[in-house]
Amino acid sequence: MSEPTCRACRGRSGVVVLDLGPQPACDYFPRLDDPGPDPQYPLAMWLCSGCGLAQLVADPTVPAEPRGAEPAALVLQAQDAVRKVAEAGLLPDGARVAEYGSPHGGSWLGLLRDRGLRSVPDGDQADVVVDCFGLMHAPDQRAALAERAARVAPGGVLLLQYHSLDTIVSCGQWNALRHGHYAYYSATALAAMLAVSGFSARTAWRFELYGGTILLSAQRDADGRTGPDDTGPDDTGPDGTGPDDVVRSLLAQEVTSGVGDWRVLQCLQRESQAQAGGLRAWLVAQRAAGRTVLGYGAASRAVALLRLAAVDRTLLPAVVDASPAKQGLRMPGTDIPIVAPDQLARRRPDVVLLFVADLQAEVRAAFPDVEASGGRWVDAQLASSSHAGGSAGLEQGA
Ligand SMILES: [Zn+2]
Repeated sequence: MSEPTCRACRGRSGVVVLDLGPQPACDYFPRLDDPGPDPQYPLAMWLCSGCGLAQLVADPTVPAEPRGAEPAALVLQAQDAVRKVAEAGLLPDGARVAEYGSPHGGSWLGLLRDRGLRSVPDGDQADVVVDCFGLMHAPDQRAALAERAARVAPGGVLLLQYHSLDTIVSCGQWNALRHGHYAYYSATALAAMLAVSGFSARTAWRFELYGGTILLSAQRDADGRTGPDDTGPDDTGPDGTGPDDVVRSLLAQEVTSGVGDWRVLQCLQRESQAQAGGLRAWLVAQRAAGRTVLGYGAASRAVALLRLAAVDRTLLPAVVDASPAKQGLRMPGTDIPIVAPDQLARRRPDVVLLFVADLQAEVRAAFPDVEASGGRWVDAQLASSSHAGGSAGLEQGA
């Protein structure tokens, strides 16, 4: 494989930090009667030595994802985020807003309209430009960020929300890597990308979504509400031109955790092997104990995990998913069918392996029958970890 070109700074120097080998497209769910084999594509993460952006090496797949059910956790987080940004005074009544959304849901537009903001037509400038998990879907990161920055009206704000690379590394979320997600941001790399467009991060908020999600607000450097005597390095904070204490501590934390260091990121490779082996051992142990296991959440992160663990329907007879578009299909690269939630009541599993931890509160409330009939919800990552280290103990999902 020739050295990639950075999607942001165009540098040619970097290191592959996670290589999952050939993987099926995680957003193409074949029909259950399609025997395969499913086409596979290389799946690897490369860290640019120039700007520090972790990114997808290549992606020949075409996004074809059936629109998944929007998790309640995503909706709640959007409400929380909008409230916090409003409290910071960044959502004035009557302001114009443009949104770059994610195909996974979580739009802010309805919430912003409720607060008196009005959306502008495509391409128009806006006082508030919001990107909720949208930017990572752009193959050309430099062009995509420049487009968003250009749409920020003078004095306006750019709000970028992303799943933090620091979270991915510290929580061992190696299977966040997927086709169609071209960039995995640290605040450090994003700050460098913003600087190219003449923007600086001003403040940030952290949310528990996906284990750690960051919302960064950035403004054009020339828009600092400052006079000529007021532009020194000490002029920081929400009213200045530089990052506030929250951003500065976020950047300092990333220096400590080493999120820009390829040697640190390579822990994701070891984590992938340990978790895949651990999941397989856990499923074998469940089968040996005579327990029925069903999966829940036909998400992209489940695809790579099941593939790497070489799980088939003899170990996991089905994955339940609430999205009608996915039912009657199977998990890519495996023979495991995707079934409707009514199967939870019908099959009465002893254990439901939850592939999307953020869904836990939602599914426990939606499907009380599981626990009422003696079953348990178990986080797939915890199950994988419980056997990765040789521990025989089953992790309680609650
Ligand atoms: Zn770069």
